[in-house]
Amino acid sequence: MNDQTSILIIYTGGTIGMIKDQESGVLKPFNFENIYEQIPDLKQFSCNLNFHCFEPLVDSSNINPDAWIKIAEVIKENYENHDGFVILHGSDTMAYTASALSFMLENLNKPVILTGSQLPLGFLRTDGKDNLIAAIQIAAASEDETPLVPEVCIYFENELIRGNRAVKYNAENFNAFVSGNYPVLAEVGIYIKYNSEKIRKPNFKKLKIHKKLEPNVGLLKLFPGITENFFNAIINNTGTKALVMETFGSGNATTEKWFIDSMKKAIDSGLIVLNVTQCITGSVNQGQYETSIELEKIGVISGKDISTEAAITKLMFLMGKETDSKKLISLLSKSLRGELSN
Ligand code: ASP
Repeated sequence: MNDQTSILIIYTGGTIGMIKDQESGVLKPFNFENIYEQIPDLKQFSCNLNFHCFEPLVDSSNINPDAWIKIAEVIKENYENHDGFVILHGSDTMAYTASALSFMLENLNKPVILTGSQLPLGFLRTDGKDNLIAAIQIAAASEDETPLVPEVCIYFENELIRGNRAVKYNAENFNAFVSGNYPVLAEVGIYIKYNSEKIRKPNFKKLKIHKKLEPNVGLLKLFPGITENFFNAIINNTGTKALVMETFGSGNATTEKWFIDSMKKAIDSGLIVLNVTQCITGSVNQGQYETSIELEKIGVISGKDISTEAAITKLMFLMGKETDSKKLISLLSKSLRGELSN
């Protein structure tokens, strides 16, 4: 980091920038122009910090593909004159946004670090200040003019995680995210220790943003006792083009005849079904058990060790640009941005 380094901080909303409404007592977003009042320490950075504020600010439960496009456009517009990007975002859907951006930003050669907090900046014990300061340091870190982390990541509570591997698993602890299937990219203590071998390498190609996302994707979590009626309503929903199906353990599901028959019919009529595990760690392995062999036979695609968040956004991204189903299926099984282990 030096005086010439420039970081763009994109504030979308979320707890980090919230205050308590005096009348109702509920948390609502505050105006980011007051950031230096909230964190005077930011003035100590030797690099340039520039800000871009979403209008209106949103709780991340209201984030959607249009917001992802907006973020990607802001990054694209500011790409040449910034060395890195920090996105302040609510933690609730941060893993979805990080996953979506990882696919939408092709040939990303600069850091895009998402962070937020569990307690607002204005609170005495806030985790927001440390998260923001470390995220800026990571976004600005370089060696021989090459950024140390040229990929989309989430920084939270001393850990830097690949964005499309992150899952929010704790609604209360400061340590809210886990990367169940990929090592942490950096650990922050007295030093910032980068796990360089596991970080994606820059390819020095021109950034390309993909803005066409297919909205007609769905998610179904299986549970013991799921009824034929409920399952059919989901699987036969007209309009749905692809379904992420969260199965048990290593990709297992009921072997009931109605279940396999209905799904086969839907797949034969063109529905893409991607099998992901309900577990945070581990992989789908279709065919390991009797309860997944039929899925493999009828054309359910194994999502391997992809997270649900990455699976949904990868489908949106691929289906927005790929019409050939054979190619689509082959791309779903491959790692595009480090989202699954080949
Ligand atoms: N509800 C908030 C949000 O996701 C929680 C947070 O910021 O962590 O926007």
